[in-house]
Amino acid sequence: MRRKIVAGNWKMNMNLQEGLSLAKAVDNFMQKNESGVEVILCTPFIHLAHITTLFKADNIYAGAQNCSNMDSGAYTGEISAKMIKSTGAQYVIIGHSERRSYYNENDELLNEKIIIALNNDLKVIFCCGEVLSEREKGEYYEVVKAQIEKAFSGISLSDFRNIIIAYEPVWAIGTGVTASSAQAQEMHFFIRSVIEKMYGKEQSDKTVILYGGSCKPSNSSELFSMNDVDGGLIGGASLKEDDFCKIIESFKGK
Ligand code: PEP
Repeated sequence: MRRKIVAGNWKMNMNLQEGLSLAKAVDNFMQKNESGVEVILCTPFIHLAHITTLFKADNIYAGAQNCSNMDSGAYTGEISAKMIKSTGAQYVIIGHSERRSYYNENDELLNEKIIIALNNDLKVIFCCGEVLSEREKGEYYEVVKAQIEKAFSGISLSDFRNIIIAYEPVWAIGTGVTASSAQAQEMHFFIRSVIEKMYGKEQSDKTVILYGGSCKPSNSSELFSMNDVDGGLIGGASLKEDDFCKIIESFKGK
């Protein structure tokens, strides 16, 4: 049995007060939730140190949405993995398509960020996924395989155990268009086969693979019912308490 995880990616939304109030509401919900689902709130940096002190539920964690590829020093505006860890946060998202496209983060840089995050005892949520033109040309398997192989280059099996993968087809992020459950399942199954080649069957069976891209209460149950879909990375719907909690509940029966 793999872990079931619902992670929220708040992106650049929520001032401090709004964020604390949402985090408190989700924590309250999680205190009563006994389904075993783990929740990770990936917030802007400014919320992290605050929300980690307010969490009371057992299965709720905080994560950042990015970290620097550098340890420390004269890198104005950057936030290091060590700083994130010092807030009590346990996770960091690396490789989100918005970072890849708006901030030109390439596979080599992402590999450096993953290594530095793991070295600082953070767990990584690594995002991969093809853009629309790659899906239309039928290149999506090759694209995702290359992203994974490059990102995890040089990462040992024991370090890899601290990585969660999020498959996020870029054409589905924030667009309202969701991959069908069959499209998600076939890609998750494929990703598991890539992980098996790199780290062996035992590890690939244990690796948590989340789906992300316009996941909402109306489609989460069906997506999460797929064999290789272990939960979701939720953007827009993670900003609404009701929607996010309904998504957490949609594991019922799995
Ligand atoms: C995301 O940005 O990781 C995401 C999945 O966004 P949305 O749910 O809004 O498509």
